[in-house]
Amino acid sequence: MNMLFKATKFVVAAALLAGLSTASMAKERVYKWKLATTWGPTLSPFIDAPTNMAKMVEEMSNGRLVIEVDASNKHKSAFGILDMVKGGQYDMGHSASYYWKGKDINTMPFSTMPFGMTTAEQYAWFYHGGGMALMEKTYSKHGILSFPGGSTGNQMGGWFRKEINSVEDLKGLKMRIPGFAGEVMAKLGLTVTNIAPGELYTSLERGTIDALEWVGPGMDINMGFHKVAPYYYTGWHEPGLDLHFMVNERAFKKLPKDLQEILITAMRVSAYDMYIQNYHMSADAWSKIASEYPNIKIKTFPKEVMDALKQTNKELRAEMVKDQPLLKEILDSQEAYQKKVRKWTEMSDYLYLKDNL
Ligand code: CA
Repeated sequence: MNMLFKATKFVVAAALLAGLSTASMAKERVYKWKLATTWGPTLSPFIDAPTNMAKMVEEMSNGRLVIEVDASNKHKSAFGILDMVKGGQYDMGHSASYYWKGKDINTMPFSTMPFGMTTAEQYAWFYHGGGMALMEKTYSKHGILSFPGGSTGNQMGGWFRKEINSVEDLKGLKMRIPGFAGEVMAKLGLTVTNIAPGELYTSLERGTIDALEWVGPGMDINMGFHKVAPYYYTGWHEPGLDLHFMVNERAFKKLPKDLQEILITAMRVSAYDMYIQNYHMSADAWSKIASEYPNIKIKTFPKEVMDALKQTNKELRAEMVKDQPLLKEILDSQEAYQKKVRKWTEMSDYLYLKDNL
C-alpha cells in the first residue's frame, strides 16, 4: 500500500466520521415551531397550504423540524397573525398580505391589485421580476420573512342581493371587500368592511353586510352565500390573489441551513399545490353550477360600472403613493412588469383561448 493511498483512505475515513457525528448531532436537535393561520380548520384549500407544508417539512427533515398549525378557532385572532409572528408568539403565519394594510400600507400590493397581474404573471414578478426583493424590503421592518403562499387564480367579483345596473346601485351598499379594491369601493360610496372568514355567511344572512366577495365557486358555494345573495358577478379586483407565509426572522436564523432550505422548498411546493387544488375545486363547482344551483344569476358589471371602477382605481393609486415612496416603488415595479409580461400573455394564452373557446 503506497503512502498516497493510505493518506486518501485516512481522509475518507475521517470525513465519514466527521459527517456521521455532525449528522447524529443534528439529528438530536428537534426544532418545534408553531404556525398561526387566519383560516378555520376545515377551510380548504387555504388551510391545506400550511398543513401540507408542515407535513412536508417534518418528512423531509426526518422529524427535525416539527410545525404545529393552529387554525383560527385555536388562537381566536384571524387578523392578528402579523402581530403574533412579529412578537414571536408564533414562529410562522399563513394569511393574506393585504389584511395588514391598516398597519403598513406597503404590505397591500403583495396579495393582488385590481386590474393587476394574473397568477402566472405575478409569480413571474415575485421570483424573476424583483417582487421578492421588494417584499423583503417591506417585511424586514417587522422582523419577518414573507414568501408566496398559494394563489387563488382570478377571483369572482362577489355576491349581491340585487342586480347592479349602475354606479348608483352600488352607492350605500355595505360590502366585505379587502385590499385596494376595498379602497376603490369606498371611494365609490360603499361602506367597506373586512370580516373574518368564519363570520362571512352570518354577516350576509343577518344583513350586517349587503354584499361580499370571497374567492370563487370552489370556495364560495361551500359557504352558502348564494342562498341569500344570488347575483354572482365576475371579477375585476383580485386577478391573481396570493396568500403568504410569514416567518419570524430570528427563529429562521436559528435553524441550520438544511432546515432553512427544506422550509423554503416546502412553502413553495405547498403554495403551488394550493393553487391547483383551488383551480380544480372551482372547475368542479362551475361544471355543476347551472344544474345544481339554478337560482344563481351569473352577471358581469355593466360598462358604466367597470369604467367607474377603472377610473377610481387610477385616481386612488395616484393619491395613495403621495408621501409613500416604498408603496410607489412596489406599484411602479408591478405595473412596469405587468406591461411587459402582458404582451406575452396576450400572444400566448389570450390568443389561444380567444380562438379555441
Ligand atoms: Ca377575495
